[in-house]
Amino acid sequence: MEKLIIIGSGPAGLTAAIYAARGALDPLVISGREAGGQLTLTTDVDDFPGFAEGIQGPDLMANMRKQAERFKVRFINEDVISLDLKVRPFVIKTENSSLSTNSLIIATGSSAMWLNLESEKRLRGKGVSACAVCDGFFFKGKNVAVVGGGDTAMREVNYLSKICSKVTVIHRRDALKAQSALQELVKSKPNVDFIWNSEVIEVLGQDKLTGVKLKNTQSGQVSELQLDGLFIAIGHKPNTDFLKEQINLDEKGYVVIHDETRTSVEGVFAAGDVSDYHYRQAVIAAGMGCKAVFDAEEYLENLK
Ligand code: NAP
Repeated sequence: MEKLIIIGSGPAGLTAAIYAARGALDPLVISGREAGGQLTLTTDVDDFPGFAEGIQGPDLMANMRKQAERFKVRFINEDVISLDLKVRPFVIKTENSSLSTNSLIIATGSSAMWLNLESEKRLRGKGVSACAVCDGFFFKGKNVAVVGGGDTAMREVNYLSKICSKVTVIHRRDALKAQSALQELVKSKPNVDFIWNSEVIEVLGQDKLTGVKLKNTQSGQVSELQLDGLFIAIGHKPNTDFLKEQINLDEKGYVVIHDETRTSVEGVFAAGDVSDYHYRQAVIAAGMGCKAVFDAEEYLENLK
């Protein structure tokens, strides 16, 4: 019987693990098969405080994990298969274990959606990115494009327009979906261009991106655009499929929280991108992981 189980091992889950271990909650982390979260997919991280020279995303996550292990945090490197939050204690099943716990922190994050092109996959990290704040700096003064027409895409465009010489928005329709204030902001930028009614059908380049092949959704005409960088910003999907029917999720599948990290099930807390579509930053996720432990501690105190 566990006091606290943490599902997820990105910045939210590992920060929660460190605080919980130091707070004598002896946490068990179910880290998932793809441990470490989205930062393991990036290269240089220059905006996480404490690293004057920057740090590689995978190294940052490996350090967080080592820090947690120093405080004797236990890990199960498996995915959660199912869970029952309607019983007390909660029951969680992984591939090889059945666990019960008095409290739970969900920190399973979200995953950027991709176009699912083979060429896009091959050039990820070699000119193709899904995070302007993480990778935009490497395209200083360069010619880049952003795919998508929603709020995320326009925020990426705004960010990149301050760094890059030119930013082209590639959108599959002839109108943006983003809120009007964001639309006006990006449309007012002299170095932002739009290519409407167009889909990326291939990412070009062998070891490094050189451009994209586009198809006009109206005429079917195929063209090529030369680029130094391509940012895919077509939305994020929270990793909450395993929580359906167990906890309140919003219409996009994010865990609904109230009073900081509390969820619709008492004793279950959420931290990081799984419940935050707005900020989506590692440092925010880490802060929420810390808060979730304080909230879980208070809950466990009251159980006694
Ligand atoms: P979103 O609103 O779902 O927009 C996704 C965009 O990508 C849409 O323009 C969509 O095209 C396009 N798209 C989707 N799949 C595509 C594909 N396979 N190929 C090409 N284009 C594709 O997602 P989001 O922008 O991440 O926003 C998600 C939620 O977070 C929204 O509720 C948003 O308001 C919120 N958010 C808010 C802020 C903020 O600053 N307040 C910032 C970020 C996100 P269509 O337009 O044709 O559907």
